[in-house]
Amino acid sequence: MPKHEPVLLKNMLQPGYTGSLADYERAGGYQALKKVVGKVAPADVTAMVIKSGLRGRGGAGFPTGVKWNFLPKDYKGTKYLCCNADESEPGTFKDRQLMERDPHQVLEGIAIACYAIGAETAYIYIRGEFVLGSKILDQAVTEARAAGYLGKNVLGTGVNVDIWVHRGAGAYICGEETALLESLEGKRGLPRVKPPFPATSGLYGKPTVINNVETLANLPHIVNRGPEWFASIGSPPKSAGTRIFCVSGHVKRPGNYEVPMGITCRELIFEQAGGMRGDKPLKAFIPGGASAPFLTPDHLDVKLDFESVAQAGSMLGSGGVTVMEEGTDMVWAALRLMEFFHHESCGKCSPCREGSSWLVQTLRRILAKRGRMEDLETLVQLCNNIAGRTVCAFGDAEVAPILSTLKYWRPEYEALIREAEAHRAHELPMAAARH
Ligand code: SF4
Repeated sequence: MPKHEPVLLKNMLQPGYTGSLADYERAGGYQALKKVVGKVAPADVTAMVIKSGLRGRGGAGFPTGVKWNFLPKDYKGTKYLCCNADESEPGTFKDRQLMERDPHQVLEGIAIACYAIGAETAYIYIRGEFVLGSKILDQAVTEARAAGYLGKNVLGTGVNVDIWVHRGAGAYICGEETALLESLEGKRGLPRVKPPFPATSGLYGKPTVINNVETLANLPHIVNRGPEWFASIGSPPKSAGTRIFCVSGHVKRPGNYEVPMGITCRELIFEQAGGMRGDKPLKAFIPGGASAPFLTPDHLDVKLDFESVAQAGSMLGSGGVTVMEEGTDMVWAALRLMEFFHHESCGKCSPCREGSSWLVQTLRRILAKRGRMEDLETLVQLCNNIAGRTVCAFGDAEVAPILSTLKYWRPEYEALIREAEAHRAHELPMAAARH
């Protein structure tokens, strides 16, 4: 049995649970929807979510109910809900498990959110590579429609809520909410300049809420067990609830672990995930997906909640915890992540488009032992000219691996450069002698 009571992963941990509608209903599924639709005022559902303290699980961690309240009041036209299922952050694989193994939990959460914000149509924008998850969700939507949980006149209440699953084409940037909207509209997935924000001008120019899969999956539990119950878990008031951490890398038991927010990094890595593979010492870990700065063994007692990880100089982000053992080449690790970001830069703004290319070239040169000490200052300058100067938050994300590895493992960069200098010092007299 898991040490902490799972909430979102509970059903799928039961033997024989398939995620079908019948299984979900047997586990108490759709009771929350029955409790609220047509019975509780939408504004009261929003108030319940605000009271619970639920914050977004996609990366930014914005309070969910507060986000819903940004929709224009008394607006009578079409509104949309978009479920951001474009889970593409390296090291993050929790939403995939939620969608594939317990799809109705996600659908029920979406239906509750639609009711709360007054949206009749929701889109699940799912990562293009998640072919299986997309098929499972489509099947689940069909089942839920047939059972009266979705479609026209939900549960005979006169409320309409329908959900459509839309597969992306496999671009990381479409996880950025405005790029997701552009892509849903059939355009190239480029982030929009904000304002206007999606709450007032989102999908097709209509008020739109975009929430992450795990965020929405929490809603049936908040309705069923009450906002006070949810707020009592984890590190309230700012980090309430559980969190699914995706642990990967050099650990004995990589996988998804649902734990209350506020457990320490040490407990997650050494108890939940079984500790280091081969019992080598820990060298580094990323606490919240590739966009989060690296942390070191000195940070093992940092609590995994929004505030504590931020105070430690990183972020909780998407919950992707990538663990690296002693012996990992940190310049290589930074380059691998930087190559990913360079490949995924959408190219809309020049600091990111050009800067990511220069960063990759500079890192490759250093790693190939052709670097110079001044390259380190160039790296920092490039990062500083990207962060905070781009259309979307991707710019801040892509510099994190470089700045944090320079902060903690600068001697590794310098050692490579000193080797390059020694090589050049040896080569020059040889070349002079040849002439
Ligand atoms: Fe595109 Fe990068 Fe600019 Fe974001 S920061 S809009 S990903 S070029």
